[in-house]
Amino acid sequence: MTASFYPPQRTLMGPGPSDVSPRVLGALGRPTIGHLDPLFVQLMDEIKGLLQFAFQTRNELTLPISAPGSAGMEACFVNLVSPGDTVIVCQNGVFGGRMKENVQRCGATAIMVEDSWGSPVSVDKVQAAFAAHPEASLLAFVHAETSTGVRSDAAALCALAAEHDALSIVDTVTSLGGIELLVDTWGADAVYSGTQKCLSCIPGISPVTFSPRAVQRIASRDQPVQSWFLDMQLIMGYWGGSTKRAYHHTAPVNNLYALHESLVMLEEEGLAQAQQRHRRNHNALVAGLEAMGLGMAVAAEHRLPQLNSVIIPEGVDDAAVRGALLQEFDLEIGAGLGALAGKTWRIGLMGFGSSERNVIRCLTALEAVLGRYGASINTGAALAAAQASYGDATSVD
Ligand SMILES: *Cc1c(COP(=O)(O)O)cnc(C)c1O
Repeated sequence: MTASFYPPQRTLMGPGPSDVSPRVLGALGRPTIGHLDPLFVQLMDEIKGLLQFAFQTRNELTLPISAPGSAGMEACFVNLVSPGDTVIVCQNGVFGGRMKENVQRCGATAIMVEDSWGSPVSVDKVQAAFAAHPEASLLAFVHAETSTGVRSDAAALCALAAEHDALSIVDTVTSLGGIELLVDTWGADAVYSGTQKCLSCIPGISPVTFSPRAVQRIASRDQPVQSWFLDMQLIMGYWGGSTKRAYHHTAPVNNLYALHESLVMLEEEGLAQAQQRHRRNHNALVAGLEAMGLGMAVAAEHRLPQLNSVIIPEGVDDAAVRGALLQEFDLEIGAGLGALAGKTWRIGLMGFGSSERNVIRCLTALEAVLGRYGASINTGAALAAAQASYGDATSVD
């Protein structure tokens, strides 16, 4: 007989999934009801309103795709890109590369604007790409690049797209709930996110929002969207404003209870307060790491508070340290990806996991393990530095 699976209680401080709050896990276990039950339809409306709040948008077409962030990405591309289109794609990490794949699989041409891993997207280079390719109808970029821990200037990039009569596709998978995200103010056109990063919900859902300009582009397509499941015209029939909902697919009912709860928690805390909490814990973590003698991989002004890239000290075995943190402290941190593999660790402070408790836990565990693996670090300084960073702040995480 195969036994039931009982996972250990880990502390998830990698690039996602992040620690899911007990309130969200509790919501997940509530009784399943039918996905066309009138009460469920009400819940869908509430989720839509809460997502509009989280994205800071009045976009009518705002809903969760029943699949992970990668499906939200694909939904934006397959609906807005037609064969023969030219799309400017910015790449400064892993996820820009996936955007390029999406564009090419839609039969369109991707004009790549590349920046080094660890730097933000260069607005000047994007400007030059528009000058060289006036036919470009879309600009795609990642707001918060989780592979490196870098924030790009979404407001400037969306404005540039609008100036050139192009629509913008913006990856906000790691932004939502963690840093400022102003869909309407920026004029972002197609925006997708995820639930397992700063919303601290379970993985597997992708909130998306489309501007009226994007909806118009979708409605005026002369070729059907190549993906049946992700065709927004069909999904709109299910999630649309009318009281009559047409069956499209069976919504992941309990997952949406979980999403609803995580958004209720965000609303209770407030967007500005959640962002401030992410910043405060980030500052304390960085103070502790630097006191230990470790260096950050990203310049201070471009850092994401929710994803901290740390340079692995010379001669230290990357995998052995991460393994020891997991085995001995039940603590997960992330490895570097792509160009940064073996060079950085990625420490997530996302959503519910962005807490003073996790900062202290991570610094304590790293200090214990690093000394053993031959890193020459300053011992006994990190906690004091983190605590000094918290200073006399009175708010409780
Ligand atoms: C995690 C992530 C994704 C993919 O989300 P999944 O839920 O893993 O499919 C896309 N973009 C960014 C920036 C991410 O951090």
